[in-house]
Amino acid sequence: MGSQHHSGGDEYIVMLPFMAHGHLIPFLALANQIHLRTNFTVFIATTTLNVHYLKSTVSSAADIRFIELPFSGADHGLSPNAENTENLPLSKIAHLFHASRSLEPPCRDFLRGAVQERGRPPLCIISDVFLGWAVDVARSFDTVNVAFSTGGAYGTAAYVSLWLHLPHRKTDFDEFTMPGFPERCRFHRTQLHPFLRAADGTDTWSMFFQPQISLSLKSYAWLCNTVEEIEPFGLEILRNYLNLPVWCVGPLLPQAALNDSSSSHTISRRRAGKEFGISAENCLDWLESQKSKSVLYISFGSQNTIGASQMMELAIGLEKSEKAFVWVIRPPMGFDLRGEFRSEWLPEKFEERMREKKRGLLVRNWAPQLDILAHRSTGAFLSHCGWNSVMESLSQGVPMVAWPIAAEQAYNSKMLVEEMGVCVELTRGAQSGDITAERVRTVISRVMDGGGEGGEMRRRAEEIKLKIRAAIREEGEQKGSALKAMDDFVASVLTNREQQVTK
Ligand code: UDP
Repeated sequence: MGSQHHSGGDEYIVMLPFMAHGHLIPFLALANQIHLRTNFTVFIATTTLNVHYLKSTVSSAADIRFIELPFSGADHGLSPNAENTENLPLSKIAHLFHASRSLEPPCRDFLRGAVQERGRPPLCIISDVFLGWAVDVARSFDTVNVAFSTGGAYGTAAYVSLWLHLPHRKTDFDEFTMPGFPERCRFHRTQLHPFLRAADGTDTWSMFFQPQISLSLKSYAWLCNTVEEIEPFGLEILRNYLNLPVWCVGPLLPQAALNDSSSSHTISRRRAGKEFGISAENCLDWLESQKSKSVLYISFGSQNTIGASQMMELAIGLEKSEKAFVWVIRPPMGFDLRGEFRSEWLPEKFEERMREKKRGLLVRNWAPQLDILAHRSTGAFLSHCGWNSVMESLSQGVPMVAWPIAAEQAYNSKMLVEEMGVCVELTRGAQSGDITAERVRTVISRVMDGGGEGGEMRRRAEEIKLKIRAAIREEGEQKGSALKAMDDFVASVLTNREQQVTK
């Protein structure tokens, strides 16, 4: 985003992300964009390990101030350096969620010092929807909390409504409607993660999500990592449900990923402060050797994997499909995600065969995703539909094959299929989802084959790409919707501050 529109001065904003890569990445991008546009000082406060991740990313992070909040995972049943959802089994992720509440006292300590030093409260706190306690913190420091949803509008609305109302518990049918959603949007039990399916309001997950989300609903306003023009339906639902201002500040992607000329330089370098399982250059060289839009990119995000038998069927289906692919591989469910990948998890000599034929590239654990999606050879993305992945894919006009696993991914997938028409869902879940090699083959060709259905999806994805890019364009007085949303948000919190002062 472009030039400085506000003098900045000594105004400051404090941001509180949840401790997961899928949240840290858009938080940092938002922090950078606010700073660029306003010159405000932006603080991001989180645990030491997460500050370390953030600091090791893009160079412009130098403009952002990082605050380390003391955190003791061991007090919450976590191992000493478990400060991020990355590589944590589900039971430990539940602990991490609960442990995130322990950041409130150190956050208050930091704010006390900041207010004393600067002689005024921050203009606002921008907190993750999961850190609802920030609403009370903001109030006690005479400022307001703005909740930031790192998800899309539709997915966020579905997630919030499901956790707060548990509508599936009020029916014996597999399909059900949901508060806030029109009758035509029926959800299916299989779209819910097993722990949400089983939730009854007294389980460990409900005991975290219900109070924290409810508090976030009491925020001054919400920011959403989506683009006004690509999710009109989801935004209508979210705005009606929240009854608060919702400003769409997406796409929170590096500028280089949104330029029209396809770039040869690497754009996803260290976006998450993680080492790649292959050098970006080698990966791009491999893509260079492939035909335009011929490669399927496969990744399940930063913290998910699939079941062992599913992995085998996916590999056999890929081989049968005769399509080229780049696949980010991790050990299957039930194994240590940080452990070595064993060849027995794939068909015999699969990797060697794919390498020799230049048919497939297996990348261990972490790939330069945005570079891959931006490459002209990439034709589709088989994704778990984490929202960052969705925005990255759409910003490059790449249609998707969905395999949602957790969080709000199945609702993102539903929206991509039913509202956007840019996706086919392959299966759901890391264990329960039935999948055969034959289905893998047919779904991949439905999306990747140029004509008919696949061609339509590609055309729609291309239209969405243009809308995403227009949102951050600024020509004279004309500004795209993301820039307008950012300016409206800033103007609103500034006006609110003036009203507070003159009260
Ligand atoms: N990512 C990446 N390389 C990988 C896997 C993931 O760069 O091999 C990045 C991806 O580009 C995205 C983020 O990690 O920005 C994953 O976020 P998402 O919301 O898609 O999924 P989550 O990890 O939160 O489930």
